[in-house]
Amino acid sequence: MTCQRCDGLMVREQYDNLEFDSAGYEISGWRCLNCGAIVDPVIATHRQPAHKTEPDQLLKQRLKKLVMVA
Ligand SMILES: [Zn+2]
Repeated sequence: MTCQRCDGLMVREQYDNLEFDSAGYEISGWRCLNCGAIVDPVIATHRQPAHKTEPDQLLKQRLKKLVMVA
């Protein structure tokens, strides 16, 4: 898979999903090694304009940190 933004190489990543209550539920997305863009089908599908309280990038970084701590 290649990045839609820069055509770079994208790698698969997994995150714990904090938007749902189900414990242990994980979502997977794609991150561009070149520009750092993240493509996440699940979050993209469930994204709601009224729910957007912080930039997606920050949310993704926080999710990754939590995964690493766990
Ligand atoms: Zn890219």
